[in-house]
Amino acid sequence: EHTISEGSISFQNVTFTYPGTEVEIIKKLSFHVNPGERVSILGATGSGKSTLFQLIPRLYDIDQGKILIDGWENSFIKLEHLRKQIGFVPQEAMLFTGTVRDNIMWGNEHATLDEIKEAAARAQIHEAIMKLPKQYDTVVGQKGVNLSGGQKQRLSIARALVRKPVILLMDDSTSALDMKTEARLLDELSQFSCTTLMITQKISTTMASDQVLLLDDGEIIAQGSHQSL
Ligand code: ATP
Repeated sequence: EHTISEGSISFQNVTFTYPGTEVEIIKKLSFHVNPGERVSILGATGSGKSTLFQLIPRLYDIDQGKILIDGWENSFIKLEHLRKQIGFVPQEAMLFTGTVRDNIMWGNEHATLDEIKEAAARAQIHEAIMKLPKQYDTVVGQKGVNLSGGQKQRLSIARALVRKPVILLMDDSTSALDMKTEARLLDELSQFSCTTLMITQKISTTMASDQVLLLDDGEIIAQGSHQSL
């Protein structure tokens, strides 16, 4: 069985059409990300950014080309293993009515309280949690304490981090964070050393990236460092 532990990602001439549709959403896309690199993905709405993310943990099979993770085609990596190594933070944080602790460990029933706290600290939400009435046992969600948009995003990031992923995919997940908090978060993520792909519209995020990919209509129209673009 192929296993992933480094987190390099290569797209080689990847073409993708959603099942049952005719339009190619991703067109002959190629790029390479080294282990531990941070990449910002920019592009207009509908350019295919979220779709690109879905192809990495193989939520869909591609039409043509190859997606390699640590040099292995993702279609040859056991799905369960592949998805375990990939942390995904969606655009909208999905919290359920339950404790903060349960919300962070969702999908990872073996996480200890120490691991949960560590993930929360990295996600810059630990201090806010400690101010809640029952800290990690506070019930949040529709019928619990309401969290701000930025707090929900950070909780959602903590949920992804507690799995200790090799690859972290963040879909516009820092949009509600102020610059200072985001800078601290990005700093923590650097130390965490997972490969990180961030869909973003923020200049502050792209500035703190090793590589920037600009998508337009399913194609990369510019690629390079923030400075070079
Ligand atoms: P945004 O910035 O608004 O999130 P995006 O760049 O992430 O946009 P995608 O969500 O990847 O863009 O969508 C790219 C295209 O694929 C759009 O035209 C969209 O309508 C189409 N699309 C997305 N999901 C599906 C689906 N499940 N089935 C068919 N078409 C889809």
